[in-house]
Amino acid sequence: MKRQLAALLLTIFALSLTACGETAAESETRTVYAMDTVMNLTVYGENAAAALESAEKELHTLDEAVLSRTAEGSELYALNASNGETVECGADDILPALIETALAISEATDGAFDPTLAPVLDAWGFTKDLRRVPSADELAALLAHTGRDKVALEETADGYSVALSDGAQLDLGGIAKGYAADLLRAQLEKEGVTSATLDLGGDVFVMGKKSDGSDWRIAVKDPGDTESYLGIVSASDAFIVTSGVYERYFEENGVRYHHILDPKTGSPAESGLVSVTVMCKNGAWADALSTACFVLGADGALALRDDLAAQGTNFELIFVTDDGRVLYTGGLAAAFTPNEESGYTYESLA
Ligand code: AMP
Ligand code: MG
Repeated sequence: MKRQLAALLLTIFALSLTACGETAAESETRTVYAMDTVMNLTVYGENAAAALESAEKELHTLDEAVLSRTAEGSELYALNASNGETVECGADDILPALIETALAISEATDGAFDPTLAPVLDAWGFTKDLRRVPSADELAALLAHTGRDKVALEETADGYSVALSDGAQLDLGGIAKGYAADLLRAQLEKEGVTSATLDLGGDVFVMGKKSDGSDWRIAVKDPGDTESYLGIVSASDAFIVTSGVYERYFEENGVRYHHILDPKTGSPAESGLVSVTVMCKNGAWADALSTACFVLGADGALALRDDLAAQGTNFELIFVTDDGRVLYTGGLAAAFTPNEESGYTYESLA
């Protein structure tokens, strides 16, 4: 509950920043609780109320019927319980499309993003709020059941088939909110909406521009003081997603254990970073890349950015290092305004 309240306050804070200098445009805002997260959706224009109604429905359906690991009726729950049996899916089903994207990002990040960490996340208790520190032996045994090679996704005459081998199970928590934002964007576009801000708890999508024609202003949380912010990103039609150690963690014997795992060790990633923000044009990629870049650390993430740019996928990054520096990539040089009062040292990268 404390976490939810904090998330809500932060979102309000972020929205009050996005609203700076706004002229009065017709808009509606709705707070939705889905995917274990407080979400704030604001839609502008005549269709706002109807668009929000269908957006909220879509979020609940996605959560409860498709992507939840814990809701017994969800498609993901059924797949994880399939005991290696092949599961058939329709051509328009969301789950296989999301798995396909997750596997592509896992490959692109050389496994830093790994959608098969479910048993390891369970061992740490992150799935059920039962925090514990697993032993090295336990982690080694669980890692034998992870890796994208254990997921077989194939196209069939009627759609897709998915099979999980070697006791593998999927956890899509690192990509689901970004993918949901992609789906909401498509739905809003279909309904004729041209201006909206969707804050799915750390995964933000800004559609179009503000009513005065200027860019949206998105506050990036300070991972050291989540009631404050690192700086402001100005953007339109972009996804801005942050992964940080403050989102989900517990402490034992003075050590903080957070929820972003290094798939090589099965333990919380120690990459010298405390948060990573990704800005790009695709929600699923922004979300999964924020998780992967956190695991890779600043140097690995910058190398990945160059590799993907060479293949036509561009994204920008803001890192917060554990020694108090904020580094941001060249494409944000003009769009990111540091909060000079935050106490961090800011460096603009090439
Ligand atoms: P995010 O907050 O987007 O960085 O996602 C973190 C969530 O993704 C965790 O709560 C887990 O459900 C899952 N996760 C943790 N580590 C990884 C990883 N290395 N690759 C993919 N998913 C992960
Ligand atoms: Mg993520």
